[in-house]
Amino acid sequence: MRISGSRALEILSAICKRDVRTRVATVTQFFDLADHPIDHGLALAFPAPRSFTGEHVAELHGHGGPVVMDMLLSAAIERGARLARPGEFTERAYLNGKMDLAQAEAVADLISSRSKAAARSALRSLSGSFSTRIGVLAKEMLELRIYVEGAIDFPEDDIDFLAEGRVSERLERLIGSLDELLKTATQGAILTEGITLVLAGRPNVGKSSLLNRLLGFDRAIVTDTPGTTRDVLAEMMDLDGVPVRVVDTAGLRTSGDEIEREGMRRARAQIDEADRILLVRDASVPETVASLVLEQSLATDRLTVVTNKVDLTSIESGEVSDGELPEVCVSALTGAGIDVLKRHILWAVGHREDAGVFSARRRHLDALTRARTSLDHGARALAESGAGELLADDLRRAHDQLGEIVGTISSNALLGEIFRRFCIGK
Ligand code: GDP
Repeated sequence: MRISGSRALEILSAICKRDVRTRVATVTQFFDLADHPIDHGLALAFPAPRSFTGEHVAELHGHGGPVVMDMLLSAAIERGARLARPGEFTERAYLNGKMDLAQAEAVADLISSRSKAAARSALRSLSGSFSTRIGVLAKEMLELRIYVEGAIDFPEDDIDFLAEGRVSERLERLIGSLDELLKTATQGAILTEGITLVLAGRPNVGKSSLLNRLLGFDRAIVTDTPGTTRDVLAEMMDLDGVPVRVVDTAGLRTSGDEIEREGMRRARAQIDEADRILLVRDASVPETVASLVLEQSLATDRLTVVTNKVDLTSIESGEVSDGELPEVCVSALTGAGIDVLKRHILWAVGHREDAGVFSARRRHLDALTRARTSLDHGARALAESGAGELLADDLRRAHDQLGEIVGTISSNALLGEIFRRFCIGK
């Protein structure tokens, strides 16, 4: 049991009925309000500010078990403590300046990480790798901003302000660094939050079979009656440590059937949100990729063609290198080409080997992308009209957007959203 707050140490002494030495484990009894012993174990006291939350923190290590734990909680509550909200310890650590927002999120990501690679990257963020890079970038941005704003305030020097301060050069460098950071953060977000993969294609080409093959167990009902997969099926799988949500959509085709139309509407929504779309086709049915793409009205920027049922033809399994779109030939029935397909998916969504990647979230990517847009906008304003005022405004905006990531700029709504997703006691 962990207690944080101004009265934490006082409550600890009351439960143990003795003084507890600071930062040293003390073997002691725990007592309820009526002085009956509840359990015995270890007590630890961490006086402010040298604690996780930055406040007084007390810890009691007992034997556990729901009844004893409940009695121990009551013993603390009767003496003035209350139950913590989800993530409240980490929230207080953030509010007391013990960590920034990106690090606080990394605590939650570390706890909920679904693979070793994700845990390692969360730990890197928690140790400040991500925040440090944001900090370096924010500092350069601020310096340029100060220079540009200074030049605006003293218009008599305006003539040479661009050339002298090498403003556009510095701006270019900033954009380059931001792109680098965005690339690494994208990797991090893939590991932390995973990707969504959608299986699209005509009925009966083997989408359900492929889903089962990718997952390694039977989830979808495989039938040979066209149009039987009416609902949207989603399953989680682990690809090399990357959490992947695989969605099998209803066979897209025009139909008068009410239920099937609803299935198609949902399929469309999934396709629009997917990180990667697999257009599955039947190798034994002669139909060009172009006509299928058109028929299913799919965006081609995130598309891979999966030519299934190669076992029925003389086509070899594996990646096809000369197509206009990426293509992998497989057999969901025999499993041929499936490993190649898995590797291709990871590569296509931008996953590279886990080299110094830190955990990140879509929220961070979003802020970085907006900062990038602001800088672009500023660079254009500068190039087109030499407008210092506009550039200063864009630099301020980009700087604020970086601040949103580490929490120097934050709103109560954002904090509520972030900490609500923690578990209680963290
Ligand atoms: P869906 O409608 O696209 O989900 O297709 P299903 O997965 O239900 O498969 C339709 C039929 O094709 C079933 O009879 C499967 O057994 C068969 N099938 C799926 N994949 C393969 C494959 O790789 N080779 C062969 N020979 N048959 C397959």
